[in-house]
Amino acid sequence: MIKDYQQQKSLRDSYDFCIIGAGPAGITLGLRLAAAGWNVLLAEGGGREYSPRSQGLYACTSTGLELYAEETRLRYLGGTSNHWAGRCRPFTPSDFAIAPPGDLPGWPIPYSEIEAYLPAAMDIVDLQPGSNFRALNTGLNGGDFEADCFLLSPPTRFAQKYATALEQTKGLDVFINCNCVDLEFDKVSGHLAAVTLSDYKRNRQRLVARHFILATGAIENARQLLNSESLRAAGVVSKDGLVGGCFMEHLNIDLGTFILKSGQPPEPRQYYTSDAFVAEYKAGKGNVTAVLLADVQTYGRTAEVKHFLENLACDMGIASKVAFVAKFSCPGDGVIGTMIEQFPNLHSRISLLDEKDELGVAKVNVNWALSADDRHTIKCIGSELAKQFADMGLGYVKLNDFVYDTSIPLKMAPHAHHMGTTRMAASPQFGVVDANCKVFGTENLYVAGSSIFAKGGASNPTMPLLQFAVRLADHLNAKMGAASGAVA
Ligand SMILES: Cc1cc2nc3c(=O)[nH]c(=O)nc-3n(C[C@H](O)[C@H](O)[C@H](O)COP(=O)(O)OP(=O)(O)OC[C@H]3O[C@@H](n4cnc5c(N)ncnc54)[C@H](O)[C@@H]3O)c2cc1C
Repeated sequence: MIKDYQQQKSLRDSYDFCIIGAGPAGITLGLRLAAAGWNVLLAEGGGREYSPRSQGLYACTSTGLELYAEETRLRYLGGTSNHWAGRCRPFTPSDFAIAPPGDLPGWPIPYSEIEAYLPAAMDIVDLQPGSNFRALNTGLNGGDFEADCFLLSPPTRFAQKYATALEQTKGLDVFINCNCVDLEFDKVSGHLAAVTLSDYKRNRQRLVARHFILATGAIENARQLLNSESLRAAGVVSKDGLVGGCFMEHLNIDLGTFILKSGQPPEPRQYYTSDAFVAEYKAGKGNVTAVLLADVQTYGRTAEVKHFLENLACDMGIASKVAFVAKFSCPGDGVIGTMIEQFPNLHSRISLLDEKDELGVAKVNVNWALSADDRHTIKCIGSELAKQFADMGLGYVKLNDFVYDTSIPLKMAPHAHHMGTTRMAASPQFGVVDANCKVFGTENLYVAGSSIFAKGGASNPTMPLLQFAVRLADHLNAKMGAASGAVA
């Protein structure tokens, strides 16, 4: 049942599970745990639709690279899936096997731990389980780049697709306009005792559950943990520790342009760094898309920009001029886009501010920062791509100077893939959650979403985070079943 917490506060006295946040991660967990027979509260801070009031609670400051953190997240039922583009690429074994450079370890689990959950995650985002992640083209000869393989989800809008299930699944209480504003930790038992929920009039209520799961996106998951005075007092969370640290994005670098040799087929090319490239250059992974200007497709973010331009042009009566600019291209010229891995580094960080939001939760600052290792990855991908383009007689690549000269500031944009702020590790020395997504130092507090990523690879994060969510649901179901001696 979906109820509006602003109107009615008919919560049970206690739940088996309390999940905070109804985006892809929270909805997936809520439906699975309730279907297994448990009483589940899914508390969503926003309403059924976008509202400036809810979205305003995402307001934050930035001291690092420009992240557009307020614009790229959506704070209402369905979360950011309300405008995601649907590109899906699974992690591969090497994402889990290879540690990043520096002092931080990579994943504490092998890829096989989430591989079995790929069909379920594909099904959730409307990809036919078993269908192949397809390549647009073949790879480049040198062995450094293979053809990239991906699939496009419709894209699945979680609030719409799962509306009936959210209404009708027995045992599941979904409350919208129901904001988590505090986590109450009991140091003696090691349990999160309760969360504090608030409506928009600041009416607060204490909610007890046996297990709690944070599923509010990578920035907010860290924010909720950092904001909790009781977690800080118990030493589970510290202001400059791992919670909020290692914030990662995928890098959208403007590598340069290319001219295709005449006679070469003009179709878009998508390449992906091979494991051999990663091993040889000790670099991160990356996807490179080479598209002739005349062929630039409008999907995802580009489609959003196009839609905006269309509306603007119609409003201002300049449609023909905008159309001319949008269609203009030089025959044979192409642009190169990328989605490049960022390695975890502790300087890239979400930290708590003194200033509070409308509901009394401390705001955060985002300091998105790259390391020298990231510049090395960008340089290697750019220069090897240019060499192999020429070697294969495909054409010529003109790299931007900041690609090979690391003293020049990068021209770059984020991909809206927020990761790493509650990273998974084998011990609290290197991470925030353990291999089962449980927060170190607690007995019953879990985290879902891409904040748990120890490494981001160059795969789009949503399908993998769903693999982890389904795995977490299985783990909790088994744990609860074992504890009660019954199969739910
Ligand atoms: C333009 C764009 C395009 C994208 N394209 C792709 C793509 O092609 N492929 C891909 O893999 N990924 C893509 N992404 C990323 C994708 O949207 C995210 O990975 C995904 O939505 C994360 O899911 P989540 O459930 O972890 O978090 P979210 O979707 O952010 O959901 C978090 C939920 O928590 C709620 N919440 C927050 N704070 C509170 C609180 N205090 N109390 C209660 N509830 C709260 C929010 O309202 C929200 O519903 C894209 C993102 C953007 C912005």
